Amino acid sequence: MYVIGSDCIACGACADSCPAGAISMGDERYEISQDMCISCGACIDTCPTGAISEQ
Ligand code: SF4
Ligand code: SF4
Repeated sequence: MYVIGSDCIACGACADSCPAGAISMGDERYEISQDMCISCGACIDTCPTGAISEQ
């Protein structure tokens, strides 16, 4: 599963890049809906802080 960690600066780039619309702003940072994510990996390359990882 793909997850967004504490390095997120809430820039929103990943949400714009996600073809599944699975990323949205949460309480403290952006979050990935595991129900909607299709595991394409596009968001990892988009994030400027490397906050997204596959676990
Ligand atoms: S892996 Fe793909 S589908 Fe999943 S959150 Fe990232 S961009 Fe969206
Ligand atoms: S691209 Fe990275 S820093 Fe920007 S909102 Fe997404 S996870 Fe946060």
